[in-house]
This record gives sequence, C-alpha cells and structure tokens, in this order.
Amino acid sequence: MSDLPGIDEALALVLAHARRLPLEDVAITAAAGRVLAEAAHAVIDLPPFASSAMDGYAVRAADTPGPLAVVGHSAAGRPEQRAVGPGEAFVISTGAVVPDGADAVVPVERTTGEVVVEEVAAGENVRPQGGDTRAGDIVVEAGSVLGPPQVSALAAAGVAVVRCARRPRVAVLATGSELRAPGEPLALGEIYESNSVLIAAQLEQSGAQATVFPPVADDPAATLAALERALELDVLITSGGVSVGPHDLVRATLAELGATEVFWRVAVKPGKPIAFAVRGDTLVFGLPGNPVSALVGLELFVRPALRALQGAREPGPHYLPGRLAQAVPRNAQRDELVRARRDGDQLAPLSGQDSHMIVRAAAANALVLVPRGDGDLAQGSQVSYLQI
Ligand code: AMP
Ligand code: MG
Repeated sequence: MSDLPGIDEALALVLAHARRLPLEDVAITAAAGRVLAEAAHAVIDLPPFASSAMDGYAVRAADTPGPLAVVGHSAAGRPEQRAVGPGEAFVISTGAVVPDGADAVVPVERTTGEVVVEEVAAGENVRPQGGDTRAGDIVVEAGSVLGPPQVSALAAAGVAVVRCARRPRVAVLATGSELRAPGEPLALGEIYESNSVLIAAQLEQSGAQATVFPPVADDPAATLAALERALELDVLITSGGVSVGPHDLVRATLAELGATEVFWRVAVKPGKPIAFAVRGDTLVFGLPGNPVSALVGLELFVRPALRALQGAREPGPHYLPGRLAQAVPRNAQRDELVRARRDGDQLAPLSGQDSHMIVRAAAANALVLVPRGDGDLAQGSQVSYLQI
C-alpha cells in the first residue's frame, strides 16, 4: 500500500501530461471562467480623463473658501467646452470631466447656498487620468483565471477580445449495469446514476465543455464501443469499473484501445482506485464509481488538469488553512479528504464519511486534508482544506 503514489506525486504525473490546448480569440463578453493565455494590456488610460469623484462644484482650489459663480455644468458623458476661470465654478457630477482650469471638486455638503465654506486642496475629489492604470500597462497577467473582477477590468481598460486556450472538450462516461437515470423506476439491484451530473457540473466550473455519453453496462463490447468514441476528445472521464472485480472493465479496455496507464491507485481516501492514462494528447481519468470517491478525484486531479490544459499559472488544487473543530482519526496508509462544514476557520467533520454517502457529502462545504498517520489528529490542529 505504501508504495502507491501519494496525492502530490500523482498530481505531478497528471500535470506533466497536460499540454496547453491551441489558442483562440474570445470576446470579453464570453471570457468569464476562461484562462488568459497572453497578458492583456490596457488600451487606454483609466480613467481616460481627470474626472470627478463626487457630485459638487468644479473649482480652482486657490479660490476656496469663498463665493461660487456657477457658469457651467459638466455631467457624466456631457462635458462643457469652456474652461473654469478665476472665481468661477461648474456644477459637476460623479464621473464627469473636470474642466480645464479647475483642479478640485467641492462636494455639495461643503457649500451653503453659493459659498464654499471650507478650503479644498488642489486635486481633492479629482480622479486623475490614468490613476487606475496607464495605456499599455498589464491589466491581467497571462495564466490568470478570468473571474468577474478580471473581465470587468479588461472591459474598463478597453479590451474587447482576449486570447485563451480553447475550452477542453471532455467526454463523460459512467459505467455500471446497475445504473438508471433519475425519473425511471428502479428494479432490485439498481441505483440512480449520479456521477455524470457531478462530473458535468464540475467541468462547467472548470471552463471545460462536457459531452455526456449514455451510461454503459459492464459488458466488454459495449464498453469498448463507448470508450472508443469517448477517447476522441481532449479528456475522457469515466466513472466506475476501475477496481478489481470481474466486471471492472475500464482499464483493460482502455489498454486495448491503445491508452497507456500512467498510474492506477493513489494513497488517498476515498478514491484509491483512480486510474490515469493517456492516449496521444488525450488525458483519461478513470474515477471510482462511489460518488464521493469520484468527487474527491475530480477536485484533486481533474480540475487542476483542466486548468493546466487551459494554461493556468496556478492550476491548483488551492488549499486554504483552517483548524479542526474536533479530533479526527488518521488513516495509517492514506491521506484522507474528510467532508466538513466550515464556520470561520473551524472545520467540523460531518457524520457519514463512507464513500457512497453522497447525500451526507452534499452538506459539506470543505474537504479537509487529514494526512496519513497514527492515532487522532487533535481538535484545534492546523489543517488544509479545499472549498467545495
Ligand atoms: P465501481 O467503482 O464500479 O466498483 O462502483 C463502486 C460503487 O459505486 C458501486 O456501489 C456502484 O454501484 C456505485 N456507482 C458506480 N457508478 C455510479 C454512478 N455513475 N452513480 C452512482 N453510483 C455509482
Ligand atoms: Mg461498477
């Protein structure tokens, strides 16, 4: 058992095989969730002009305190053409151009009638041109995942199109003669198929495009036919059929189809029987059938691989620090991912840690890494966890 690769070793093997996919242009309106392949530079200074941070009056700071002779109005998107002269002021709105001649904005609250009651300093309430970024400066670095703030920053800086690796095309194939779709009646021995939706949902979060194949029975010919088609995409994720039972056909069938196994089984709980293989540039993950094992395999290995295929600088998994709210027994041979509920930095393990208990796992928002060892990991121990 101890000769099995650990989580880090297995992940390194996966990432070593994940080559970035070809690049394409992506409109900024469709770029959320994608990974930026090349640094994106500001097209303009931002703000593009000195603008007001307040609703008030644009003035010459040297004229304050004192009376206001309001001679113009600069509204957002509607600048005045003339300049502010000595003793003059413009009504100005937030985001409007600070007119030539003016060097400060007096908020309405600091005026009474038409008199500025307090001195304002030059530059006060003025957002300088280029104060956020300069034209040509990097807005988002290569390899960044484009979340809401990043796409907004790029749009603000005038970037309409970005370069990204194309989305990984991923085949999803559940195996098992016992599997039925929810909504259908179940005969004795059958269960509802829940891994395809798990995998597809996770792929959606990872910027990948899922093609979900109909589940295949534990039959050699059917498995061969399904795997053959599924292997044509960038990534194939199977579930079930990678253990040692007589009906576990996935690994042998993959080998028959020319896939080379890189590893089978990892010193992790749950999810030990996970297989990873490659055929050409296609990555193949054989996830175990138990839903919680599949979930753990997806978080530990598949998500980082998908991010690496998209050229992410930090493909993850991204562990966060926390503390155990109660003692947890350690597994002697395998690092364990314990389903837990996080409250602040406190991580409370849930009851029902068996790998088939997906309903129990659905109450978790954290996978706590409990390194292998003897005895308990004490309450209050510093641990790492993954948000799920
Ligand atoms: P296996 O990895 O094929 O030995 O399956 C392990 C356990 O996971 C068995 O109890 C299977 O019935 C169950 N299982 C396999 N595939 C799925 C699936 N797609 N959805 C839900 N449970 C599954
Ligand atoms: Mg099975």
